[in-house]
Amino acid sequence: MKFLLPAALLSGLAGATTLPALPPVPSLNAAGIVTHGPRTVRQVALTFDGDMTAGMESELRSGKVKSFYNESVVAVLKKTNTPATFFLTGMWAQVYPQAAKELATNPLFEVENHSYDHPGFSQPCYGLARIATGAKLANMLQAQRAIHLATGVTPKYFRFPGGCAENGDVQLAEKVGMTVVHWDVVGGDVNQPNPQKIVSQTLARVQAGSIIVLHVSGGHAPATGEALGEIIAGLKKKGLTPVTLKTLLGK
Ligand SMILES: [Zn+2]
Repeated sequence: MKFLLPAALLSGLAGATTLPALPPVPSLNAAGIVTHGPRTVRQVALTFDGDMTAGMESELRSGKVKSFYNESVVAVLKKTNTPATFFLTGMWAQVYPQAAKELATNPLFEVENHSYDHPGFSQPCYGLARIATGAKLANMLQAQRAIHLATGVTPKYFRFPGGCAENGDVQLAEKVGMTVVHWDVVGGDVNQPNPQKIVSQTLARVQAGSIIVLHVSGGHAPATGEALGEIIAGLKKKGLTPVTLKTLLGK
């Protein structure tokens, strides 16, 4: 048996042109995946995934894509003194070790685990590569090692690429000391060149305790940095304060 989160992201698909329809996410997943924090406190977590697949890395090496690090996202966060959480793939941390380290050592930010090379832990998963059941734990640990090597930090939270997981996968992450954290607000920045659409989608869905998913990997999410300033201003207007996931979840 397997389950597929309804708001799974189309993620890591450089070159794809359409977004899937995104129905609302249930408040808490039966499989034990955290999708939001307490609704009683007016705090939210902005989270940014750093996707990297072998295919993306070769696009980078060949020069087809200039960068999968959207520095403007980090620049806006720093400029506005906004806390945020980054779910990095191990491969992203290997390609951008300096950036990963800067994120991990900045007290505004927190770095977490988004698998080693962004496979689909259940299938189908928006075209993400299949991973053998027996390779899943090793993939999570390979990411832990790569992120630790680059940053000195050992992540406490894990996020499945595309939100795709099979029964038992959550327990694998828990076995190695990680809580699985997804989201209740999809910013819709993947394959979205129009920042206004990202702003309006995010602000329309956000509420107290929300976990918002966006991307720091640029490439297939090119307008995130442009949207971010207005998103932060909009959150403030609603009386919602961005905090790191650890602060939101209290652990
Ligand atoms: Zn991802």
